Amino acid sequence: MVIVGSIAYDTVESPMGKSESALGGSAIYAGIASQFHAKRHEINSVGLVGVVGNDFLEEDRVLLENLGLELSGLEIAEGKTFRWEGSYHGDMGEAKTHDTQLNVFGTFEPKVPHFERTPKVLFCANLIPILQSKILDQVEATRLTMLDSMNLWINTARDELLEVMKRVDLIIINDSEVKLLANDDNFIRASKRLVHMTQCHTLIVKRGEFGVIAFHGDEIISLPAYPTEKVVDPTGCGDSFAGTLAAYLANGNGLVSRIELREALISATVTSSFTLESFGTERLLQIGIEEFNERLEEYCSILA
Ligand code: AMP
Repeated sequence: MVIVGSIAYDTVESPMGKSESALGGSAIYAGIASQFHAKRHEINSVGLVGVVGNDFLEEDRVLLENLGLELSGLEIAEGKTFRWEGSYHGDMGEAKTHDTQLNVFGTFEPKVPHFERTPKVLFCANLIPILQSKILDQVEATRLTMLDSMNLWINTARDELLEVMKRVDLIIINDSEVKLLANDDNFIRASKRLVHMTQCHTLIVKRGEFGVIAFHGDEIISLPAYPTEKVVDPTGCGDSFAGTLAAYLANGNGLVSRIELREALISATVTSSFTLESFGTERLLQIGIEEFNERLEEYCSILA
């Protein structure tokens, strides 16, 4: 499978403290989560496609390499790595963005390595819609193409975003974003409207502490969040959720069934519940298979 998205240095503040210039970005969170599940499911490789500046730390590149991520599609360009600064308040459901510096992403011309142009699953994680579009021009996924986005692009590149959304099978987005995009405050109506506008087969709407709802053809799947008291930093929850989903779906064949999608959403929910327990990628990087399985079992008993 191939993941394209932002690779960043994030500065994040929450009621639990502050983390400065830590490794982040949509492709990083998605890649780490995918790689964790790829190992569990014996998927051949998880390729990252993106760009970093020449300030990107060697220790961060080594970390990604040691995880087993395929980095041929990672370009190092003259300039600074993408930077994002945000904070969380109140119920910590949504980040408040303070600063976004595209840096090397501003001039990035993606070139997907030839051997990664027909993956089983392509995940276009949150990134400038025009770049997502350029990736879709180069890659033909054999099973599924997924896409994520955010409010910044809905507000600044709405037409380009809707165009690229029409080209994918599965869209994954937050509830506030679906309302903004469909221009409707009722989230069910907004979701159905977005499906109609994009003709996507599957729309997955993440609802933070309220869980997730998937519109899959004529079917609807609804799952609660894993009940968590300790929320340190929700950054990357959506990306690790989507990365898990991508890895799960890269393990199957043919049309995605309701049962398969539900199982993938369950694992994605459990994975993202680890992400928010620390600042940055720390907790996600430390998940052990046994503790994952234990939490999965506990979550399934809640669903039963
Ligand atoms: P989420 O999973 O939605 O919490 O995504 C968090 C990640 O999104 C952070 O690590 C940021 O670096 C990244 N990010 C924030 N703003 C943008 C943007 N405009 N484009 C791409 N990635 C972004």
